[in-house]
Amino acid sequence: MRVAVLGGGQLGRMLALAGIPLGHRFTFLEPSPDPPAGQLGKVLAAPYDDPGALARIAEAADVVTYEFENVPAASAAFLAARLPVLPPPAALLATQDRLAEKRMFRQLGIPTAPFHPVDSPAQLGAALAATGLPAVIKTRRFGYDGKGQAVVHSAEEAASVQASLGPGLLAERFVDFERELSIVAARGRDGGRVFYPLTENHHRDGILRASRAPAPGVSPELQAVAEDLAGTVMERLEYAGVLAVELFEARGRLLANEVAPRVHNSGHWTLDGADTSQFENHVRAVTGLPPAAPRMAGPAAMLNIVGELPDTAAVAAIPGAHLHLYDKVPRPGRKLGHVNITGGDEAAVGETARRVWALLPGEPSGLPAVPSHGWR
Ligand code: AMP
Repeated sequence: MRVAVLGGGQLGRMLALAGIPLGHRFTFLEPSPDPPAGQLGKVLAAPYDDPGALARIAEAADVVTYEFENVPAASAAFLAARLPVLPPPAALLATQDRLAEKRMFRQLGIPTAPFHPVDSPAQLGAALAATGLPAVIKTRRFGYDGKGQAVVHSAEEAASVQASLGPGLLAERFVDFERELSIVAARGRDGGRVFYPLTENHHRDGILRASRAPAPGVSPELQAVAEDLAGTVMERLEYAGVLAVELFEARGRLLANEVAPRVHNSGHWTLDGADTSQFENHVRAVTGLPPAAPRMAGPAAMLNIVGELPDTAAVAAIPGAHLHLYDKVPRPGRKLGHVNITGGDEAAVGETARRVWALLPGEPSGLPAVPSHGWR
């Protein structure tokens, strides 16, 4: 099939790396020059709302998918009128606006932190009454990697954050979570669903640094709750493709934070830690193949390479460390690649992760961990 991907970053690159062996050809619509996916297919170098580029995609592709959620709604609608756009544009609409997303969770009976819209200074008091303090104030749109949000401890602080972030905000209760988890799931065009194990995620400066899968200490019941909530979201959106739900684990409960209607950084470990990766399952799902239930040979971890490259030969020389580079120019805060770690048991994965982590420039000493679930 001819697959068009809106976006040509590392997610597009890894989608093509998984989809080419399945016999597909890729075209990327990507405004920035020389993107990470550039070696893997044709690149249409144009803005996401360029009518000429969208018309060419409509002619040159059998199916359209995307690797980020901020695709203009009008572009998705233009394409969806002409050929399948999967995941469906409704998934973009539901996830581009954090308020719409939280309301969808509420409608579906999925627990979240208490939240309230903040559209005007007059609404701030009601919002803080609903959330309590401390609260997190977030922009409703275009926030990513921790940008466009701030934790506030008083009404005065909230007012100044509101003034600086501008209109169109959302306030949420600050959740004193034990850890952050995510679940990656796939649903096929025929409705078949598969799930990866809950993954434990560690961020610094709003950027994912490390993931562990399966998240240690997760009961089958908690996994079932996560699968149920991701499944409910996929059914609501009549979804096809891979989706990730970011969750907080707080006092044994899962609270949903956000949905990514695409392959997700917390699923990168599946390239080496599962026999079918999230990228292959996304391509399978959007091209009409059933997603494959993933099997894991053992635990896995993923460490992101952020801002600066390590000695890549030294990383690659470590048994059980699998290097993935995105062909990007280093810049502070930029995701340049990741290292997946496999091993027979948690102790082996922990030992290898420690060795790799020590080679990553700019990371503090000591692997990030939840005290109750430290690396062995
Ligand atoms: P988000 O952009 O919503 O994914 O948030 C980025 C990060 O901010 C999350 O991964 C959490 O670490 C933190 N965060 C977001 N919302 C909350 C909240 N309500 N309570 C505590 N931490 C939060």
